[in-house]
Amino acid sequence: MVKKNSIHTVKITDINNLGYGVCRVEGIVTFVAGAVTDDELEIKLIKVTKNYNVARIERIITASEYRIESECSLFPKCGGCVYRHISYSYEKELKRSYVEAAFHKAGVKAEIAEVTSDNKISGYRNKVQYPVGKNGETGYYRTKTHDIIECENCLLEHPVLHEVKMYISGFIKEKKISCIRHIYLRCAVATGEIMVCIVSEKKDFPELDALCNEVCEKFESVKCFALNINDKDTNVILGEKTFILRGRPYIEDELSGCRFRISPMSFYQVNHSMAELLYSKAARLCQLKEGESFIDLYCGCGTIGLSIAKQAKTAELMGVEIIPDAIENAKANAVLNGIENASFICGDAGDAPLKKCNCVIVDPPRKGLTEKLISQLAEANIQRIVYVSCNPDTLARDCASFVQKGYELSVVYPFDLFPRTGHVENVVFLNRKKG
Ligand code: SAH
Repeated sequence: MVKKNSIHTVKITDINNLGYGVCRVEGIVTFVAGAVTDDELEIKLIKVTKNYNVARIERIITASEYRIESECSLFPKCGGCVYRHISYSYEKELKRSYVEAAFHKAGVKAEIAEVTSDNKISGYRNKVQYPVGKNGETGYYRTKTHDIIECENCLLEHPVLHEVKMYISGFIKEKKISCIRHIYLRCAVATGEIMVCIVSEKKDFPELDALCNEVCEKFESVKCFALNINDKDTNVILGEKTFILRGRPYIEDELSGCRFRISPMSFYQVNHSMAELLYSKAARLCQLKEGESFIDLYCGCGTIGLSIAKQAKTAELMGVEIIPDAIENAKANAVLNGIENASFICGDAGDAPLKKCNCVIVDPPRKGLTEKLISQLAEANIQRIVYVSCNPDTLARDCASFVQKGYELSVVYPFDLFPRTGHVENVVFLNRKKG
């Protein structure tokens, strides 16, 4: 076995989706932080196990052509980005090959399309959730720890969120407020509206009123100021209770030709322009015609279903979602957009009544669908299924299950909704084979 702290000369052959360069040392796979495919390096082994090693770069002998200088001083410490040190075109290639590998591993034959991207790799995030330390410092957790790295300028966040965050952080520091755990902000890119949600251990603290007043006065676009209470000692950011302290219980945005109300507890895609590209692909794959009906499972505040219903003038849309506030938004959003034949059910997608319809859209969280729901969809004889997924591994696993139950797929379309991070979104069309 190789020894810890030993030095080796290697050539990097790949990068994994955590951003580590991969090589082999005496046959054992070795992960090297900050290393790039084709780099020739001198590395030092900092962790040695039977199955893999972890190493640090000691010296770059020849730098890879994919390498670029990271523009962020916090990379890779903050853990948010994993690809600041490579060209974006290479990142897209890597993402495509992860999707390919996931489908290969699941034993599903499919063509993986080129990654769709608008090539906007900074300032795209319309939502941020910053942890706040006991001294009011805000930023990101150091990778795998609870230490907070002060972050003055994150390249991913929308610039307006940066301004609001800096202001609130300054206020917390000045007043020495110790009960605030997170600052959660969202901006509606099309309308400019901003939501501020302060996550606190306590419902009341003496400076709360002044904080609301000052933030709303300084930033007129804040249309929703909420306080979420989280007094539990867990990693979950938001607690169960949310109080609206100023403005409305939602902000409004425009997306894919519709107007949407979004509450603090509702899911909303973080990358506005890429979400529009993703939704329009999903709409095309659904092939819905006037008079047809469809179901949107995991519908959030109704974004995918309502935008399709508006364009295709469908006969009926049913949406299912587990978060009550999101369902309330979805119902209001149907009215706001003049879509009459839409109904929304609050509950588990697995319990949805799968009545006869032409198409079902599913957009589950990272863990994917349950085997039970896949069976229910197959048994209900749903002809067309459009699967939107934020996790290539569970998507590939679920596609294998669909194929086994009589569905076919031909192309997987990756969409880069999260440039510079290890994540990639995908959409797939599954068609029930005849007979
Ligand atoms: N399609 C929406 C939301 C996708 S995110 C959009 O594009 O905006 C996934 C959604 O699934 C979240 O809103 C989450 O609250 C919801 N969800 C999670 N588990 C669920 C379950 N078991 N049943 C129904 N919805 C669920």
